[in-house]
Parts: sequence; C-alpha cells; structure tokens
Amino acid sequence: MSEANPSGKIPVMSKFYITNAIPYVNAKPHIGHALEFIQSDVIARYHKVKGDEVLLLCGGDENAIKNVQAAEKAGKPVQEFIDENTKSFYELSKKLNIQFDVWQKASDIKHHLSSQELWRLCDKNGDIYKKKYKGLYCVGCELFYAPDELNEQGECFEHPGKKLEEVEEENYFFKLSNYTEKIKKILESNEIEIVPEFRKNEMLSFLKSDLEDISISRSNKRAKNWGVPVPGDDTQRMYVWFDALNIYQSGIGFGTDKETYNKWWPADLHVIGKGIIRFHAIYWPAFLLSANLLLPKKIFVHEYFTVNGQKMSKTLGNVVDPMEYIEKYGADALRYFCLAKMSPFQDGDFSDEKFVQAFNSDLANGLGNLVSRVAKLAEKNDVEIEEKQLSINPNVSNALEEFRFDYALESQWAEITKADRIINSKKPWELSKEEATPILTDLIQQIRSIAFSIQPFLPDTSKKILDLFKGPHITSQAPLFPRI
Ligand SMILES: [Zn+2]
Repeated sequence: MSEANPSGKIPVMSKFYITNAIPYVNAKPHIGHALEFIQSDVIARYHKVKGDEVLLLCGGDENAIKNVQAAEKAGKPVQEFIDENTKSFYELSKKLNIQFDVWQKASDIKHHLSSQELWRLCDKNGDIYKKKYKGLYCVGCELFYAPDELNEQGECFEHPGKKLEEVEEENYFFKLSNYTEKIKKILESNEIEIVPEFRKNEMLSFLKSDLEDISISRSNKRAKNWGVPVPGDDTQRMYVWFDALNIYQSGIGFGTDKETYNKWWPADLHVIGKGIIRFHAIYWPAFLLSANLLLPKKIFVHEYFTVNGQKMSKTLGNVVDPMEYIEKYGADALRYFCLAKMSPFQDGDFSDEKFVQAFNSDLANGLGNLVSRVAKLAEKNDVEIEEKQLSINPNVSNALEEFRFDYALESQWAEITKADRIINSKKPWELSKEEATPILTDLIQQIRSIAFSIQPFLPDTSKKILDLFKGPHITSQAPLFPRI
C-alpha cells in the first residue's frame, strides 16, 4: 500500500486519459471509424476493470476546409452541416456501446479559447512568425506537400486522383525546425512511446532530415471565415491541425478549467490511424514543447480495413456502413469482428462473407453454443452456482498491454474449445446428477471466467452470460448469437 493511502483500505486509483482520433465530420462514419472507436473503448474498459480512473475523449474535427466545401456542395450552412454529421458519429458510438466521457466539438467556443491559449504560449516562446508562402496543398489532408512526397501523378498518397492546389499567401509559421533533435530524442528514448516499433522507426527515419517550419494559419478568404481566429490578427484563421490536435487538451479544460486539466493531462494514450502519425508524433509534441506543456506518454497506431481486398473509397463505392451490421447482428458481433479478425498492426480485410463466417463459427457455434449447452445441462441437473471472485485472464491482460486485441480473444476462444472438448468427452448428459454436477460446476466456472475476461471486448454478451450463471439456479435463455 502506498503512503498516500494510509488507511490501506481503499486502493489508490491511477488516472488513465485516453483519446480517440477526432474524425473529420465531412461525411458519415464508415467501418474504419467503428474500428478505432471499438479499439479505444476496449482499452478504456480494460483500465476501468483494472481499477483506474479513466477518461475517454473523442470529438469532431470541424474546422477543416473540407467541411466547408462539403457543406457548400450539400447546400447547407456549415454549422448545420457539421452538426448533422457529428450527430451520426456520436450515434454510432452509442450504438456500438462506446463509453466516451467527453465529446469535444471543435466549433465550440471553449475549444476556440483553448486553442488561442496554446497559440499565445507558442508565440510567447518565439516560435511563431509571419512569412509569404507558396506551395502545393492537399485539401483532403489539409497539408502542404513537397514535390518528392507525391506520387507519379503529383498527387498525395492518401488521396490519389485529387489534384493539389497551388497556394500562395502570407501565413503564420511555426518554427518546427527548432525541434528536430528534441523530438528525435523524445521518440528514441520512448519518452513518447510509439506502438508498434516499425511506426516509431518510420518517424525516426523521417527525422533524419531537418524538419522545416510549417504554416499554421491561412487567410480568412481561403478558410472561408471558418475555424479558430488567430489571436491578435483578425485576417487569419488557424491551420486546422494546430487546433485539431489541441482538442485533446481543450476537451479537458486547457485554458478554461485548470483543475480538470491538471487532473487529466498529459494523455496516457493517443489512439490513431497510420495516416496521421506525423501530426501526432512530431507536430503535436513540438507545439507542446514550445508551449512548455507536458507530453503525451504513448501513441498506439493502428492500420486500416480494406474491403474485399480493395482500399475503401467513395469512388469505388465500397464504403462499409457499420450501422447496417450493428442493426442486423448487434454491436458485439461487429466489435468481435473488428477486434478478433484483424491484426492491429496490419491492414485487415472486411467482407460480408468473412463477417458471416466469423459470426457463425466463433459466436454462434463457439461461444453461444457452449453457453446454451452448459446452461441447459445445468438447468436439467439443477446445479447450484458458486459465484467465485473473477479476474481478467492474464493472457488477455498481457495481450492488451501490447494492443493485441486479436491475441487476447484468441486466448479466450481457445478456452471455449477446451470446454467443448470436456463436454464431448465426459458426456454429462449420460451421467447421473451426482456425477454430472461437479463437471458442470467446473464448466460454469470456466465460462464465467471467459465471460469476465471478454468484458472489455463484448460488454453486452459478457453481462448476459454472467447474469445467466448467477446463483443459485439457472433458467436457460434464448441463444446469444442465432446462426445466420
Ligand atoms: Zn491528401
């Protein structure tokens, strides 16, 4: 027991602040958004089970020019358009059982004030200056690119087929060049740990050449008067990434609520997709260093879903709507597929066929079948349930510390197979009540342990199983996952 806890009775909770990347809200959410929501939620729930005090944040990246353009295309006022799309992200999170504690909107005044505070601190440190700039700009990424960072057609790799705009204007710049060596040391020493290692190495090789200063504002005209106004200059708005990253701070009160901010910052974990690693591993720490603020501790970088072996894109018309799957098969079925059927460190493939296959073999025939077989046998033999203390299986916690959701679930499905084997070899239905009872009591304990261990992954299913095998007697229920 620590000294901060002299009574020795109440365990000291440590705080765990985790962020989900904030989605662009220029369109409705797709399966990739669901994937990241689910991953963040599992990590947050796992820390809750461990006894940590957890805060999970997400929000809307609302200040991008893309949003303004998409709103224009839809013939709607920007705020109205954004609010509608944000709502669909928020609804997705509810339907998926994601426990976001904070949903911070970037168009919110609280976020504006907070981002202006970050700007002022960087400015005070002498890292912000004004200069004329001309460059190739990808509106999709909200990023200037050097010619050698583009594909053969002169387009960015994230948005093939989209022409870059040549932009010239006077902007504010951030002296990123001051931070090459500092950031290199921070990443090398794991002061900010990047998982997986190959993504860290990718950033370190990017840092082999000196960082160039970056534009952090744009004219009101190019911004179409949308976004956070630059403090002290009413002709300019902040570059979207400068304020977007700051949502991780504004959502917990940076610049507006000191007590809450000091309680939660720094972030213990940023969860992001591979496409935005440079912003999180390089720009963001540089802004924070400049403002003399604490650095996040860890960044977990996941890969993407392809669909039927192809990159998911609007052009190809193969964008998967997660809502359809939730409505048809339930949130836990989608959660299971995203977590079990993809390595977080490699692109995974989503297809209807693969989804149905996983549902039938692992959920209906695997977990669901085991639970209903044992429940029926226990009901028939009137087995009394002992509610022993449960804890998360160490194979699950070890895998989760490394973000291997797939390994964690694999370990529990191996337990399911083991339990199935016991039933098939001992055939409790052929035995007397006296002979069958100890076998069933053991099986029930195993199932309760599996149910408890998969609680962060499949919260609804876990609860249903634990409720079913609650003392003293069992009344068997409808199957958890009826076969498709
Ligand atoms: Zn792009």
